[in-house]
Amino acid sequence: MRKNNSILIIGSVAVDSIETPFGKRESVLGGSATYSSLSASFFNKNIGIISVVGRDFPKRYMSLYKARGINLDGLKIAEGRTFRWKGNYNYDLNSPRTVYTHLNVFADFDPEIPRHSETSKFVFLANIDPDLQRRVLSQVKGPELILCDTMNYWIDRKRKSLLKLLKNIDMFLLNESEARLLSGETNLKKAAKFIMSYGTPSVIIKKGEHGVLFFSKHFSFSAPAYILETIRDPTGAGDTFAGGMLGYLSHVRKINSPNIRKGLVYGSIMASFVVEDFSINRMLKLTKRDINKRYREFRRIASF
Ligand code: AMP
Repeated sequence: MRKNNSILIIGSVAVDSIETPFGKRESVLGGSATYSSLSASFFNKNIGIISVVGRDFPKRYMSLYKARGINLDGLKIAEGRTFRWKGNYNYDLNSPRTVYTHLNVFADFDPEIPRHSETSKFVFLANIDPDLQRRVLSQVKGPELILCDTMNYWIDRKRKSLLKLLKNIDMFLLNESEARLLSGETNLKKAAKFIMSYGTPSVIIKKGEHGVLFFSKHFSFSAPAYILETIRDPTGAGDTFAGGMLGYLSHVRKINSPNIRKGLVYGSIMASFVVEDFSINRMLKLTKRDINKRYREFRRIASF
């Protein structure tokens, strides 16, 4: 019998407005749970999301998750408006300027995990209020791997709660400016050490177009980013990275150094696709063949 390798993701489902030097989109599908679940769905067909949307959430978006086999039993439809985020990027595509964050229905969301998801083996606490991340985690029984993400918004507002969460997770994911903000260290190795001192055994620091660093007690790893010519919208790159990495690890099941390295590369490859177009558009056209082709190219670029 095939063992349970299901993935549970809590995070935002959002309506985004985005402006980059390459164009502008109003009210498109976004959110950390959206990007990460779609990305993971290329590696695992047993994914559920825990999130909330308002009555204004376009019905046509629901079918996009369903078409990729994502279970929406944990997606609540509440009275009120969906989470909305607006970001502008200048030519430094690594960090957006947040124009607004409207939590809307997230402000009083009390997550409840459907019965069948309580035994999920792989958990992604995608970017959302750390109090909600903790509430979801407390309802999961015996997970094998817990990956947790965050962003400056929560570091600024919920620092204590976030630091408290670190002892209950296996891998913490953040970008370089967030690692510096959280730790007060400029050097990323020192920042990772500071973060691990709160109990997480490993830290992944995303450096946008410069790749990703992995730190743990046992080994460190640095993966470059795939060299891209077309970047139109960096939104969701981090979540897509996380979904790809966790998707791969849940597929191979064995969490060891070679698989973590490969997972980091698969995550980078998934992120390299999503930034080629606005919102989730590139992922809708993506095939397993495209992913495998880019994996082979990545190997050639990075080996010496
Ligand atoms: P990323 O570019 O991977 O960091 O994630 C971008 C996504 O995060 C966008 O689709 C936003 O809707 C979502 N987002 C922005 N701010 C927040 C926040 N404070 N909490 C949760 N999700 C957010």
